[in-house]
Parts: sequence; structure tokens; C-alpha cells
Amino acid sequence: MIQVIEPATEAVLEELPRGGIEEIDAAVDRAREAFPGWRAMAPGERASRLYALADAVADRREELAVLEARNAGKPIADARGEMDMVAATFRYYAGAPERLLGDTIPVAGGQAFTVREPLGVVGLIVPWNFPLTIAAWKLAPALAAGNTVVLKPAELTPLTALRFARVALDAGIPEGVVNVVAGPGSVCGQRLVEHPHVAKIAFTGSTEVGRSIAAGAAATIKRVTLELGGKSPNVVFADADLEAAAAAAPSAVFGNAGQDCCARSRILVQRSVLDRFMDALEDAVESIRVGDPLSEESEMGPLISAAHREKVSSFVNGSGDAPVAIRGSAPDGPGYWFAPTVLCPVDPGARAAREEIFGPVATVIPFGDENDAIRLANDTVYGLSGSIWTRDGARALRVARAIDAGVLSINSNTSVRVATPFGGFKQSGYGRELGPHALDAYTEVKSIYYATS
Ligand code: NAP
Ligand code: MG
Repeated sequence: MIQVIEPATEAVLEELPRGGIEEIDAAVDRAREAFPGWRAMAPGERASRLYALADAVADRREELAVLEARNAGKPIADARGEMDMVAATFRYYAGAPERLLGDTIPVAGGQAFTVREPLGVVGLIVPWNFPLTIAAWKLAPALAAGNTVVLKPAELTPLTALRFARVALDAGIPEGVVNVVAGPGSVCGQRLVEHPHVAKIAFTGSTEVGRSIAAGAAATIKRVTLELGGKSPNVVFADADLEAAAAAAPSAVFGNAGQDCCARSRILVQRSVLDRFMDALEDAVESIRVGDPLSEESEMGPLISAAHREKVSSFVNGSGDAPVAIRGSAPDGPGYWFAPTVLCPVDPGARAAREEIFGPVATVIPFGDENDAIRLANDTVYGLSGSIWTRDGARALRVARAIDAGVLSINSNTSVRVATPFGGFKQSGYGRELGPHALDAYTEVKSIYYATS
């Protein structure tokens, strides 16, 4: 049995059967059986089923949000926003079945054109930090393109994915098109990676597991897209609106209790304004309301597990290369609480500045000039996201072009929009989710030549 724990109380939220290899194999069989019918469905019909699914998620927003808030320990207001994004993602890709266009290409002796074909059965492996949201980023384009799927949620947070399977069926997605198996990654995830009848793995999670998936997929030349970790920079120049930058910085690193691959966890601040920035940041961090995920007031919940809290704590040891400068407050146990923490000034070589903490711990690193900022921003194996705060537009664009990361914002810390591509450079992964680009990851281009002479 899987015991699903509520991180805010440490109590058992639900017990459910633990899937294994047999359950994955049975799910792949169901998905294979459903594939020809789903792929052959008229594009307009597939579109209307996906619109119905978007509506069904919107209708059940509160139920799904409460389940996600309790299981993942995230503030209910955030969970509602996530369910809105899930519905919006299905609505966006519902337009795709009728817009999967090809090219006509001039050649001698005939007519050449391209079409997009679905891949077949796609395996989706997702983490515990944004359980249904990240699943939707994969489900929606995969289904729109005519694939069928087997989704493996993280064992810590399987509840919304399992509920979603029922919602999809009720909304008219045919039996076997969406299959969900909850079970351990080392068994169920690995079986999906090895399975000869799974055409592709779409994965979000740690760089370490991503590496093993890429290696495992090589045996069957499976397609793979990987959304992995990050250590993203938030670059604040002296000419920025410092109050705005300091007010925005906390949510960019403490949102979802820092368990966010896009967290701007390296705050690079131009040395001449470091003191002013830290004063403003202190006020913002101390006012963060950490507490019960189901309270409308809460802005930050607990961490996902005791083991994860141990890992996060190991970065906050007050050592000389990463001293604690600001400490917010958090409730006492039960619950895996951790107070928002800012380390400053952090040596760029310190472990806290190099490894992904995935918790509410920000590192502040001072810099000298623009070149110094770019060098520090790129001084990481990761390249997922980043922000640039300055009133100099030309500088903003220069720095944005120079940072090796997939998603950058200027005078904003946001990363994710349904209509824009999302994904990493370097060891943050490969492939893009969201926007029109995601459809490339769930289709093959086929070239057809018709001889006319
Ligand atoms: P994880 O340990 O990599 O797990 C992610 C998923 O992979 C889970 O469903 C897990 O299953 C499964 N898994 C574990 N071992 C596997 C294996 N050998 N073969 C196949 N699947 C396996 O990551 P996590 O601990 O859940 O999440 C934290 C990490 O995810 C962070 O590093 C974070 O940066 C990254 N992340 C990245 C993004 C992004 O978009 N780039 C988004 C969110 C999170 P079980 O957990 O059930 O065993
Ligand atoms: Mg893990």
C-alpha cells in the first residue's frame, strides 16, 4: 500500500494500492488498444473532447485544489491558480488537433508534403511539487496530437492525478486513452522507460533521475524530453526599481516553499546597492505568512517530507561562506515546516550557491559590473530560468541574450505562460513544454512524395 501523507499535519491522508510492473504493463496494453481509435478520431471531435475536459477541470476546480493543497502542502490560493492553469492548458491545446499543419515543398517530378503523426503510447513521469499542473503540460499536447498516455505521478502526491483520470473519462475521453499508475519511480518509472511499446518518455524531476532515464531510453531509441533542476539567477542592477525587485524576490524563491525548479534562488545584487536591497528584502521576508495550506491567509506551506526538510536544513549551517542574514518565521510541528531564510553574502563557490536546494532558502551574491553579473549568472551547470531587473532597456536585452537559460524575464520573476515555450539549457534538460513548441515533442514529421509524372 502507498500511505499518502499530508505534509502540514504528518497524518495519513489516504491509503491506496501500490502499482508495480504488472500494473504498468496492463496500462501500456490499454493505451495501445486505445491508440488507433483516438488517433483516427476526426480532429474537430478530438478538439471538442479536450474542450469538454478543460470545462470539467474548471467545474471541479475547488475539489481538485483542496486535494492538491492538502497532499502537496501548498497554500489553497496557489492550488486554485494551478487548477486554473490546468484547465487553461487543456483549452489551449484543444485548438491544436485542427491546426497541426504541414508544409508543401517544391520538388521535381511530383508533389512533396509533410504531415505530423502521433508517436503512439507516451509515458509521462512527473514530480511532487506541482503534481497536476506539470502532468497537464504533458497530457494536453500529447492527447491533442493523437497519442495515448500512461501517467506515473510521484508516490508522495498521486491523488490529483488519480482523480483526474476519472474526470477525463467523465468528460468523454475514451477508455484507455489516459491511464494513471501510482507506484515507485524505481519500479514503475523504470518499467515505462524500458517498455518496448512506449514510444516516448516525457519527464520532469531531478537531473540525477533524468540522466538515468536518458541512458535507459537509449536501448529502445525512445524519444525523451527532460525538464530538470535549476539554480536560477535573479540579477538586480543598481539602476533597477529596487523596491519592486525586493518586493518581488521573495515569491520567486519562497513560492511553493522554494520547491520550484524555476526558483530564483541565486539573487545577484550589484554591490553598490546591496545594503538598500537587503533592507527592503528583510521587510518582505519577515512578512511572509507561513501556515496551514487550507487557510486563505497562508502564503507558504510546509516542505513535502521530513527527508526533504533534512536535506534543505543541511544548506543552512551558518558557515562563513554562506551566513544567515534573514530568517522569517514558521509554525512548530507537527508538519514539515521551514522558515524562509536568506543567506548573504554567499561565496559563489559555496555549496549553497551551487546545488539546487529546492526549499525556502535564498542565496544573495554581490557583483561588480555587467560582465561580472553575466559571468556569475552562467556559473552553474543549470540553465532553466532567470530574471533581470534594470531601467536600462539595452542592458536588459544584452544580459537576457547572454544568459544561458531557457526562460528569462525582465523586471518580472515570472516563468510560465501556457502560450510560451518552457524548458532548459545545459543540465536543466532538453525539449520544450507549453506554447506551440510542445507539439513538436509529441509528433513525428513524416515526408510524403507523390509522383505526378
Ligand atoms: P525525482 O526524484 O527525479 O522524481 C521525479 C519522478 O521520477 C517521480 O515520479 C519519481 O517517482 C520518478 N522516478 C524516480 N526514480 C526513477 C527512475 N529510476 N526511473 C524513472 N522514474 C523515476 O524528482 P522529485 O524528487 O520528485 O522532484 C524534485 C526535482 O524535480 C528537483 O530537482 C526539481 O528541480 C525537479 N523539477 C524540475 C522541474 C522542471 O520543469 N524543470 C519541475 C519540477 C521539479 P517516485 O518519486 O514516485 O519514486
Ligand atoms: Mg525523488
